[in-house]
Amino acid sequence: MLHPATAPDVTETVTEHIREHRKYLASDSRCILACLTEKETVGRFSAVAGAVVEAELHIRFGKRFGRGERWDAEEYTVQFAALAQCTGHGCIDSKHEVPATDVFLLYADADETAPHALPLVTAARAWAQKHAETCRALPYTGR
Ligand SMILES: [Zn+2]
Repeated sequence: MLHPATAPDVTETVTEHIREHRKYLASDSRCILACLTEKETVGRFSAVAGAVVEAELHIRFGKRFGRGERWDAEEYTVQFAALAQCTGHGCIDSKHEVPATDVFLLYADADETAPHALPLVTAARAWAQKHAETCRALPYTGR
């Protein structure tokens, strides 16, 4: 019997992204994309009239000058932000941004860093769900 796919665990997804980014940095010394934002959909809701409201987690990878012993040493960072967005045609309140977290070190324990994304995910999901309950905008059909 087939089981429906369940949504992936956010902590695991974030941990994976962090590890992937480390691998990427290690494999490409040019590091053109040391600063990039990975976007992960963490919730989809259907509004009253059928428009889709999505909750998105943003994992921002960056680089800054170290605060450690060597002032000019670069360190790699990761930070989380979240966004809820309604795709309804003409929706008047279509976006909700959840403020970003503190900056974490990319090479800190990923299992400890990842849970910091959870409160933002919850906030974005909550807004998306609440919005979906009241939004009467129709799905955008391209016309
Ligand atoms: Zn809406």
